[in-house]
Amino acid sequence: MRILVVEDEEPISSAIERGLTKLGYAVDVAFDGAEALEKAAVNTYDVVCLDLNLPRIDGVEVCRRLREDRFGGGIIMLTARSAIRDRVEGLDHGADDYLVKPFAFSELAARIRAITRREGSLREPVIDTRGLELDPNTNRVKRDGQEIHLTPKEFSLVYYLARNEGRAVPQEELLEHIWDEHANPFTQTVKVHMNNLRRKLNEGFREQLIETIRGKGYVL
Ligand code: CA
Repeated sequence: MRILVVEDEEPISSAIERGLTKLGYAVDVAFDGAEALEKAAVNTYDVVCLDLNLPRIDGVEVCRRLREDRFGGGIIMLTARSAIRDRVEGLDHGADDYLVKPFAFSELAARIRAITRREGSLREPVIDTRGLELDPNTNRVKRDGQEIHLTPKEFSLVYYLARNEGRAVPQEELLEHIWDEHANPFTQTVKVHMNNLRRKLNEGFREQLIETIRGKGYVL
């Protein structure tokens, strides 16, 4: 899951970024409305957390343009208590939800979970396949009923492969969906996490779950 945080107040945006990264999300940050639209045009986000009072292009306008460009992810507005009119306008222009500042980080995390659980292309179902049980709401993994402890990144990897079961997923696609824009495509990042994931998933089992197809990618 990849999230764009749009917030011009650096202490707030970096606190949100840190918190969401800890929960296993890939997070990008934009500091004004124009930068937000540029990033949304080139990256695929599941959720945008959008401050309404922004330099260059304000949040309501960002919201309107995102939906005009057929952005299909969730939009959560971050607003001042007094900005009722903006909130209403934002909701009218396609925002899904809002939070009034100051808010507790746990509340933002809960709203993000709620939005991504909703019906539609963004819903993240529990997956049960090949003896593996993957619950994206709790990040819990079981293989043949036995619990396996994965890091959030490892969970995102195996979940993505499971959603694309039977198809070889190229490394670049995994980078695009699971890492943020700071990931260097020329490093061994994916490989290293994949090796750890495989070690944990396969330990004590005869069948090896993730295959590497040379030149094509990884397949579950
Ligand atoms: Ca602001």
